Amino acid sequence: MALKLFNTLSRSIQEFMPLDPAGKKAGMYCCGPTVYDFAHIGNWRTFVFGDLVRRTLEFKGYAVTHVMNITDVEDKIIKRVQENKTSLREFTGQYEAAFLEDLKTLNCLLPHHTPHATDHIADIIALIEKLIARGIAYKAADGSVYFSIEKYRGCGCNYGQLLKLNFDEMRAGERVKSDEYAKESVADFALWKARVPEDGDVFWKSESLGEGRPGWHIECSAMSMKVLGESFDLHLGGEDLIFPHHEDEIAQSEGATGKPFVKHWLHGAHLLVEGKKMSKSLGNFFTLRDLLAKGFTGREIRYALLTAHYRETFNFTLDGLHGARTALARIDECLGKLREAAGAPNSDSARTVGVQSRDVQDCSGDTLKRELQHAETVLGAPNDLVARFTAVLDDDLNISAAWAAVFEWVRETNRRLAENSLGATGAASALAAWEKVDSVLGIGTKSGADVPAEILALAEARTAAKKAKDFKCADAIRDKLKAKGWVIEDTSKGPKLKKI
Ligand code: AMP
Ligand code: ZN
Repeated sequence: MALKLFNTLSRSIQEFMPLDPAGKKAGMYCCGPTVYDFAHIGNWRTFVFGDLVRRTLEFKGYAVTHVMNITDVEDKIIKRVQENKTSLREFTGQYEAAFLEDLKTLNCLLPHHTPHATDHIADIIALIEKLIARGIAYKAADGSVYFSIEKYRGCGCNYGQLLKLNFDEMRAGERVKSDEYAKESVADFALWKARVPEDGDVFWKSESLGEGRPGWHIECSAMSMKVLGESFDLHLGGEDLIFPHHEDEIAQSEGATGKPFVKHWLHGAHLLVEGKKMSKSLGNFFTLRDLLAKGFTGREIRYALLTAHYRETFNFTLDGLHGARTALARIDECLGKLREAAGAPNSDSARTVGVQSRDVQDCSGDTLKRELQHAETVLGAPNDLVARFTAVLDDDLNISAAWAAVFEWVRETNRRLAENSLGATGAASALAAWEKVDSVLGIGTKSGADVPAEILALAEARTAAKKAKDFKCADAIRDKLKAKGWVIEDTSKGPKLKKI
């Protein structure tokens, strides 16, 4: 079945059809972080949504090229660099490193390309020169270069493709220099900002444009076209980027090339915290790190961020995170039992699951096929899971229906495990189905990495004490673990840690 996605450009749900004539390759560009601070949980909702789109496309068999830029020069960054009396690179470098670390914590796949604006100044200048040559951009008295909306529209181009604009209410001839503005202030926007004293030493020299720095919008046009070509398949971001950022990206790119820029525009709705817009003054502002410090894991946070449909406003709450923990425990328990039934090692620290059982792994060719066919007749559910999951995902990434399919499968699998009707091959087949589904969800299995290092060290010390027959010490460590919220159980496969 074909994947259907809501396209902001047509304001309708459309079948995804890549530009690649063979229908195999897909190029996607996600507007990346502005590296002036740690990314907050709202930003992470959008980046996890981008990861879901990428994983879905790969699940559907496309060879995806995923690009995410790093905005490492723009208004807010320059202000902070001056306030902190540091250099641009030093300042942005620390937040970029934190961003990439957080991306891993949330199990987001690393984009194939992460271009930096400051590494593409020559491309940006070349693009602006092209717009000047076409008469769509002009140098103003302050030395900055602006995009002329009037000239662009005069060429028969459409400004306002993503957002309907009322040009009768526009104040012709006005200009806006800052990177962010509201649609009420539609105006010629800056492509190249002439050097001013407040920029400190953040400027580049251009023979044609003079000393200055790029505007935010032109950065994304230059970097996306550089990596993906003048026309590409998908462009993503949060809904706040629709105007002016993405509207201006279309104008700059189509103004320069005369070709359609992007086929499918996807926008994620915003995240609220406890029903309110996040703000530091309300005390409801969380970075990913704030939540990790509260004891939640990246996996729990990813799950929570993936519960609501991407076009619905998501109300993020700490209660919701506790709910995520419970929901994941249900999945983990079922997977643990399946691994045991399949004869695979049931280790809590195992990262991946799948057709790992000896009886299936040792099989080859016809035998394997026969085993799996047998498993399918024994257990319809695993195959139902993949089919149902695919069908709802195809429907504009209906993630809540996808989770419903997962939990129905968990219920059904638990029932069959309880009545012992699954067998080793049935269990292995169920695990293989889960692995397919999880290639999209990306929640994996409970990982040893989720157990804090301090707790792991205590558990190891207890094992050592037991080996040395110092049971008093071992009991004391067990009590210490309990006080820290962990129980340790001795099983036939060794000690197992569980959160209370
Ligand atoms: P920024 O680093 O500010 O450029 O933002 C990075 C991404 O986060 C952009 O795609 C924004 O649209 C998105 N974003 C910002 N605030 C929120 C929010 N509260 N909820 C969801 N996405 C957001
Ligand atoms: Zn962008």
